[in-house]
Amino acid sequence: MTPARVLAGPPAADALLSDVAARAARLPRPPHLAMVRLGDDPASVSYVRGKDRRAREVGLGSAVYALPETTPQAELLALIARLNADDAVSGILVQLPLPAHVSEQAVLHAIDPRKDVDGFHPLNVGELWAGRPTLIPCTPAGILYLLDLYGLPVAGQRAVVVGRSPIVGRPTAALLLARDATVTLAHSRTRDLGAVTREADLLVVAVGQPHLITPEMVRPGATVIDVGINRVPGGPGGKAHLTGDVHPDVAGVAGAITPVPGGVGPLTIAALLANTVTAAEMQAGRRVPG
Ligand code: NDP
Repeated sequence: MTPARVLAGPPAADALLSDVAARAARLPRPPHLAMVRLGDDPASVSYVRGKDRRAREVGLGSAVYALPETTPQAELLALIARLNADDAVSGILVQLPLPAHVSEQAVLHAIDPRKDVDGFHPLNVGELWAGRPTLIPCTPAGILYLLDLYGLPVAGQRAVVVGRSPIVGRPTAALLLARDATVTLAHSRTRDLGAVTREADLLVVAVGQPHLITPEMVRPGATVIDVGINRVPGGPGGKAHLTGDVHPDVAGVAGAITPVPGGVGPLTIAALLANTVTAAEMQAGRRVPG
């Protein structure tokens, strides 16, 4: 069988980012993204720095509020209230995870849904499941953009999403359903996972378990989207390297597959910036989201 077509993320992310830059330039003032993080977790520091850099590169305003890990919840909520009320702020992102003394739910509920560029506010979650246009979580939005850019069909496809987290699996299932796929959502309690995944024309895997999906679990010719980012030993010089949830040998069975790294990852930041522009357009009365 011919090897799978590789769905490279960086060119898709670049295409989305040039659209973001063009839309941003048409607005009366640059959309502005406010990002809040608590503490110095290296992964969070690096994610926020990457988002800040990319935002500026495409002509968006960006500000990072780096608060001490011990910041009381009330103080964080007061900052969110100020950002909600500030007309110069188009989008608000609070980097997760939060320290244990802060309620993630309280924080996500406090963000104005019209500025909720992560798409985690319950109002936006509900709109997405109702199939109405809304601000959509970034990784699922990036996956759909990637599929569209590479001309892969969604409507009418049998889609299986493995993983049901609120940030990836669930919203991806909702989005695929809204785009007329026939969707199954699998998880750690699914019986005979391979029998379920073999049904898929379109298989999205967001689990966090290296190489969980092996070739015999994939229908020949299926499109496979590997969201997993796992740090495993065995890289050059004994360092850790990144690998996905899908075994590399699946490339010999699938019709199309995203690599890790360099697949879905780059689209997540691009989708965040697209959401920031969408939020700014909504606030300027120029569009409904979607
Ligand atoms: P979570 O840990 O929040 O969720 C994992 C999901 O996988 C759960 O629903 C869990 O089921 C399910 N699961 C765990 N083990 C199995 C198994 N053996 N069989 C079937 N299902 C299983 O992870 P996230 O959704 O946050 O992230 C998933 C992966 O995606 C991670 O590797 C993460 O690093 C990566 N990621 C990548 C992004 C990107 O931009 N590319 C963005 C976000 C995440 P249950 O609910 O039953 O426990």
